[in-house]
Amino acid sequence: MTNNVYKTTCCVIGGGPAGVMLGYLLARASVPVTVLEKHNDFFRDFRGDTVHPSTLELMHELGLLGDFLKVPHQELTSTGGVIGDFTFKAANFRHVPTHCKFVALMPQWDFLDFLSGQAKKFPTFDLRMQHEAVDLIRDAERVTGVKVRSPSGNMQIHADLVVACDGRHSTARKAAQLEVREFGVPIDVLWFRISRSSSDPEQLLGNFNYGKALILINRGDYFQAGLIIPKGSFEAIKRKGLDAFRESLLQIAPFLGDRVGAVQDWDQIKLLSVQINRLRRWHQPGLLCIGDAAHAMSPAGGVGINLAIQDAVATANLLGTPLREGRVTEDLLRRIQQRREFPTRVTQRLQVNAHKVFEHVFQNTGPLTAPWQLKAAVRVPGIQQALARVIGIGIRPEHIEDTEKRPSLPRWFVPGVAVGAAVLAAVAVVAVRARRDLRRKKYTEPTASPGS
Ligand SMILES: Cc1cc2nc3c(=O)[nH]c(=O)nc-3n(C[C@H](O)[C@H](O)[C@H](O)COP(=O)(O)OP(=O)(O)OC[C@H]3O[C@@H](n4cnc5c(N)ncnc54)[C@H](O)[C@@H]3O)c2cc1C
Repeated sequence: MTNNVYKTTCCVIGGGPAGVMLGYLLARASVPVTVLEKHNDFFRDFRGDTVHPSTLELMHELGLLGDFLKVPHQELTSTGGVIGDFTFKAANFRHVPTHCKFVALMPQWDFLDFLSGQAKKFPTFDLRMQHEAVDLIRDAERVTGVKVRSPSGNMQIHADLVVACDGRHSTARKAAQLEVREFGVPIDVLWFRISRSSSDPEQLLGNFNYGKALILINRGDYFQAGLIIPKGSFEAIKRKGLDAFRESLLQIAPFLGDRVGAVQDWDQIKLLSVQINRLRRWHQPGLLCIGDAAHAMSPAGGVGINLAIQDAVATANLLGTPLREGRVTEDLLRRIQQRREFPTRVTQRLQVNAHKVFEHVFQNTGPLTAPWQLKAAVRVPGIQQALARVIGIGIRPEHIEDTEKRPSLPRWFVPGVAVGAAVLAAVAVVAVRARRDLRRKKYTEPTASPGS
């Protein structure tokens, strides 16, 4: 039953990386913006914790980097892998052309708490937790708002523009019946924690062996572990029992030793189903989809969060002023898709290719040997720097364009200053000449004789 009706300029659905960044940037540009997040807090584990150099550079451009780096995090300067007994470095971030030459590993809730905390300093920012978008409101063909469920009842939020940032299972894109292209994905990920000891590898490592792949992300005193499994195989793994599961972890990463014993219950392990898909059209009159709502990303390369943030920056750059001035057109929404679709396509293509490597790993259930091509490739000079650039900065990085309206100067100001400066210069020239003439006169005039 509705209830409350509320009006804003831009209604953002979803308080993930895309939604909170967009909310921050629009509020910074003095646009009234309401961000709806269905959960009570940002505290959800395994949401991806990688803040890449491109995002850190945006923090620098916004003047937030110093404070941001005070939030506890680990700094990942390189990534690598172990295939069988061959250890290699894949990407080296020490040379990326940004202020921070590392990936910051920070729990996503800390990242979102920080950014939303900064956004709340702007008077036009309105974050509503426990507000779930359940449907869109339309006026003929145009989306004009969102139907919302909240603990205090149902409400309608009317807006000049609705931006769907509600992730892979986007309610808004379903309600808008936007067509989705799915790209087959052969993997799922099992996420869990394993304690870390000081002698363990510091940097991110992918371990490939015996038909399995285990990613270990250093989170200080524990690893966030991701076991990559063939899609749909979790039930079969469960049927084999926890002993077999722990044994398989040890087979891939023997250095974990008896720490794998801490995995005592299937409830400690969370299945995350991986998808790659993309909308054909990211917009309708009054509605724009960005981030995973427009293009669900796989965890491969850990780039989904950064891509979502780049979408938000491009959106704020293009729409900040038109939103403030009430002139957002569908053509502008189309331009956002045009700008962001190319980097998305390329990144998704790279992820699809990375999945083929996993398929190859799954097919070889015995001890794995690294192919000679890989051994040769990692020795090519500059390859680690090039990979770091692709992963850390991505394709077509966005930068903050200052959309804040600065007070404009009065029309007479520039000509007035010019005339004033010209007058001053003329006076100065005349004065210098007069002084010079006076001096010349003083030295050339004959001194008057006493009786004349
Ligand atoms: C297993 C796995 C691991 C990953 N690991 C990484 C990684 O390490 N690094 C990385 O960069 N990327 C990773 N990704 C990809 C990354 O999670 C996404 O690309 C990224 O989170 C997209 O950000 P987003 O803001 O678009 O959406 P999301 O992060 O999905 O945020 C959507 C938000 O909207 C809210 N919401 C949803 N529906 C509604 C509604 N109806 N009303 C109100 N709010 C709603 C949700 O609660 C959520 O807060 C991983 C993906 C998977 C599947």
